[in-house]
Amino acid sequence: MEKKPFEPPLIKKLNAGMPAKFGMAPRIEPVTEIEGHRVHDLLDQYGSPLYVISEKTIRSTYRQAYQAFSTRYPKVQFAWSYKTNYLGAVCNVFHQEGAWAEVVSGFEYDKALQNGVPPQYILFNGPSKTYEDLKTATENGSFIHIDHFDELYMLMEVADDTGKKPKVAIRVNMDTGIYPRWDRFGFNYDNGEAWEAINRIMLSEKMDLTGLHTHIGTYIMTPEAYRVAAGKLAELVVSTERKYDHNIRYIDLGGGFASKNTLKGAYLPGTDTAPSFDDYADAITAALVNSAIKPEHLPLLVLETGRALIADAGYLLGTVIANKRLADGRRAMIADVGVNLLFTSFWYEHQIFPAQPVSRHTEDTTIYGPLCMNIDVLRGAIDFPLLKKGDRFVIKRIGAYNMTQWLQFIEYRPNVVMIDTDGNTHIIRKKENLDYLTMQENIPGHLNKINL
Ligand SMILES: *Cc1c(COP(=O)(O)O)cnc(C)c1O
Repeated sequence: MEKKPFEPPLIKKLNAGMPAKFGMAPRIEPVTEIEGHRVHDLLDQYGSPLYVISEKTIRSTYRQAYQAFSTRYPKVQFAWSYKTNYLGAVCNVFHQEGAWAEVVSGFEYDKALQNGVPPQYILFNGPSKTYEDLKTATENGSFIHIDHFDELYMLMEVADDTGKKPKVAIRVNMDTGIYPRWDRFGFNYDNGEAWEAINRIMLSEKMDLTGLHTHIGTYIMTPEAYRVAAGKLAELVVSTERKYDHNIRYIDLGGGFASKNTLKGAYLPGTDTAPSFDDYADAITAALVNSAIKPEHLPLLVLETGRALIADAGYLLGTVIANKRLADGRRAMIADVGVNLLFTSFWYEHQIFPAQPVSRHTEDTTIYGPLCMNIDVLRGAIDFPLLKKGDRFVIKRIGAYNMTQWLQFIEYRPNVVMIDTDGNTHIIRKKENLDYLTMQENIPGHLNKINL
């Protein structure tokens, strides 16, 4: 009798709701619909994968944030951070709510104009503005936030060449107790550089110093850091008024409020740890109202919150391509959504939900995307229900940075659909195709013909 080949036994651990060392495993409830639309229907209609954005969630989140600040401080203005999500439809929801535009490049500046934002409501940030960018922004009367001395001197040339006084703010960085410190943008407060920039601007008389700006970092979990930042900017307002009798009209605290996403390695979920808008508003406005700024010169408070305003409004829907066992027996699931569409999976543990009923059994699973690249991991280890090939899933809280940092890599980028406040769906960005992707290419004549 012939010997049969050896097959290694595979013992797999299925969790069926037994308590583990940390207590009961949380049960993952399916997400079968989004605002009345079945996930399966959306994917059938618009293809998989699919981004879905809720207009209702954008508006309600914005109103919560605005309310938190405007009840505590008399003059508040939000500016939508374009790089967080610059799809025209998304920007215009924020602009309809009253937000100005906050841009960090010539491209974003043009996009804000294209969206219909009046140039005097655009804040132009960023370290890489060109002479042309500065000239356009000066002629248009936009607010220019100066990042470094080279830019400051270039802007003086622009002022001479155009005969106009640019409206400027300086970006200030500082120690707020948050480490690592973000000191690569703007002028440092603590070593006196920011004060020197103010003096150079004031003494040149070529610019109108309208504001002070800081953006202390991102996903900042301690409102106290903002209290320190607002206090330091208030000091500069007071010093400027004392020395020049000049009234700085706004203080811009930037963005950086934490969203409810969970950071990799965090012990508790972001839904439990992220401060509320009220917490941030308390800290910031307390520093301003308690400062030595004269009441009649209380500056406008500008906020450029990005991720905390849009994360919850975005969903990414997808389909299971396959399941397989890794060489060590571990369960692996391959999805049609990868890091190309979910760039933020490099730092968040995104929550993924089945889109149809599932059994109570779960297994420790690695979820991979569709790319032919080892780094394409959506979740390294997640206790996940046993989805089958063709099953659908929903990833929540993906509205920030994924629709700007997405990679056109290996796959086309899919449709983006917005569900409006009446529940109607609209494609707000069409899925890509070969013509779109090759539109900018040019093949030199001698390479036109290939003969294999
Ligand atoms: C990125 C950015 C923001 C928005 O940051 P979030 O962390 O998304 O809130 C605001 N202001 C500036 C200058 C930025 O660069």
